[in-house]
Amino acid sequence: MVGVGSVEGGEIAHYLLDAGFTRVVGHDLNPTLPELARAHRLAHAGLGAEAARGRLDRLLGGLAELHLGDRYLEGIGETSLVVPTQAWFLHRRNLGLRRLRERGVPFYSLIQAYLDLCRGPVVGVTGSHGKSTTSALLARGLRAIAPLVWLAGNDRRNQQALEAVARDEAGQGWLVLEISNRQLLQMDRAPQVGCITNITPNHLDEHGGMAAYVACKRRIYELPGCTVGVRNADDPVSWGAGPLPPGVRQVVFAQDETALGESDGCYEEDGWAVVRRGKERQAVLELAALRLPGEHNRANARAALALLAALDELDWPALPGAARALAELRPLPHRIQLVWQQDGVDYFDDLSSTTPQSTVAAVRTLARQVVLICGGEDKAIPFDQLAQLVGREVRQVLLLPGSGSARLLEAVRSAGAGALVREVESLEGAVDQARSLARPGDAVLLSPACPGFFSAHYGAGGYRRALRSGATSPRPRTGPG
Ligand code: ADP
Repeated sequence: MVGVGSVEGGEIAHYLLDAGFTRVVGHDLNPTLPELARAHRLAHAGLGAEAARGRLDRLLGGLAELHLGDRYLEGIGETSLVVPTQAWFLHRRNLGLRRLRERGVPFYSLIQAYLDLCRGPVVGVTGSHGKSTTSALLARGLRAIAPLVWLAGNDRRNQQALEAVARDEAGQGWLVLEISNRQLLQMDRAPQVGCITNITPNHLDEHGGMAAYVACKRRIYELPGCTVGVRNADDPVSWGAGPLPPGVRQVVFAQDETALGESDGCYEEDGWAVVRRGKERQAVLELAALRLPGEHNRANARAALALLAALDELDWPALPGAARALAELRPLPHRIQLVWQQDGVDYFDDLSSTTPQSTVAAVRTLARQVVLICGGEDKAIPFDQLAQLVGREVRQVLLLPGSGSARLLEAVRSAGAGALVREVESLEGAVDQARSLARPGDAVLLSPACPGFFSAHYGAGGYRRALRSGATSPRPRTGPG
């Protein structure tokens, strides 16, 4: 297990130990046990501190060996199976793993394990944006009509479920998997039902260009095992990438029914989401009832409803119940989440935005004047569209340091709005300035538009702590926004 402190590493290690493997060897870059424990705690934030600690203790007790720090790959040449975390190939220090792979040592991954072990239906959701939200919507809908549903995969806050999935011998559980591009590269089979929410330029440096990135996403339809492909007819890139492989049934979601052609799927009519399967159709959800804000979330809801329509195992009359349940989903943490209100200003946390497109979606969703806190590393995605909003919906940009920030600043300058960008050194400084710049009725939006914001700028308590510390008359939101 390489990266044994991570969610993926820990999950498989636990499964193997439970299954009776006696030589599970842990490797981790963290140099000491306390640092491994800290990384483990952060990676398992969704579990709660106590459960995470218990899990680490069990793990450390079960490993046959643990190699940390500079020599963390020591002994790896002896292994008969390597299970690395999904981003292993991005780190130069993992060169030793590349050599093992070239020598033909088998590699394995958490997603592959889910696919091998789950006996019930598995749905996989990938895409550049909206994977977590669409997966969560679908799981929420399914839970209203099916007795056992797991939501697992890419999002590190999700509680994983490998051991429970493996125990379900009768195949009664439904598994919804959120799948990243890196995970797709490490799979050799696909879920029965696969969905690409949308494709926009992302991770191009890793893939060596857009064509390779699109091909990577399409693996969800093209690997053996896929029987139904759910597609977004409103997304030019994924839709334009060609038909599904022969034998894979197409299910479509789109705003207009005409875009569905002959396919089953989901579209909008008179403010309702309508689901179509064969000759039958039913209006299942009034979209105004959706708790998630913004046009992008309506697209995510259409995707989730199309997925429900794609599942032959589901009874047609059960769909409206599932649709009503999924509409109740509130914003996931760090996705346009209202976290604070003060002096007539709403403060939103959209930390999950690592691309300009998702920050544009957030600004459009808020539909008012925005003071934007952003910045971070560079993923080589064009910032032009975001830059165009500065001086319109975006009253002011507070930019934290990073290679992506430098390019964003250039883009805003080229758009003629450079004077509206202030460079700030810390999140606390940004929050201080935002307070004085925002006017009643405005929103202050933390939405990085770049990767790396969390590790570089978020600090211990993050946005909420910064908001709390400078507040004169604090009015925190108690529930999720
Ligand atoms: P993912 O899991 O693909 O990263 P999330 O659902 O976690 O997607 O959302 C990540 C960010 O992208 C958030 O800022 C969110 O508001 C935004 N977002 C979600 N769905 C979409 C979409 N369909 N189009 C554009 N942005 C989106």
